[in-house]
Amino acid sequence: MGIGGSWTLMQLGIADKLEERGNTVFCHHKSGLTPEEVLAARRAQLTCDVFLTGTNVITADGRLVNMDATGNRVAAMMFGPKKVFVLTGANKIVPGIHEAMERIRTTAAPQNNKRLNRPNPCVESGQCMDCQGPTRLCNITTVIHKKPPASDIHVWVIGEELGY
Ligand code: SF4
Repeated sequence: MGIGGSWTLMQLGIADKLEERGNTVFCHHKSGLTPEEVLAARRAQLTCDVFLTGTNVITADGRLVNMDATGNRVAAMMFGPKKVFVLTGANKIVPGIHEAMERIRTTAAPQNNKRLNRPNPCVESGQCMDCQGPTRLCNITTVIHKKPPASDIHVWVIGEELGY
C-alpha cells in the first residue's frame, strides 16, 4: 500500500495501523529514511495495489484540486495504483476552482510549509508570495475533474475538520 504525503492521514495514524496489521506500506515520510529510501518509497507508490492520500481541496461538484512539490502524490492519484482512496475532512470542501486555488494559496500551502519547516516567505506572511527559490513547495497544480478511465478512485469525506 502507498501513502501520499498528507497531514490528514498522519493525524489518523493510518500508516502505523496498516504496518501493525502486516501490510507492506510505502510511506516516504517515515522518520529515519535515507534519501534513497525516500525516493524508492515515492516510486513504489506509483505502482502499488492501493494508494491512500488526502487532497488539498475538493470542490462542491467533486473536483480534486492539489498542489504538490515532488509530484508522486498527485501522479499516483491519477494513474498507476490499482485503487486510490482519497480521505478528506469536510473542511476541505469549497464551492469551485477559484475558491480551491485561494484555499491552497492562503491555507494549505502556507501550513504545509510551516509543518515541513520550509524557509519560504508564506510561513511568515500566511499567504503565498510566489517564491522562486529551491525550497518552494508549489511546483505542480492538478485538477481531477472526473474519474480517469483507467483509475479506480474513491473519495471518503469525513465529517470533521482534518488536515488543512
Ligand atoms: S509558492 Fe512559495 S510562497 Fe507560495 S505557498 Fe508555495 S512555497 Fe509558499
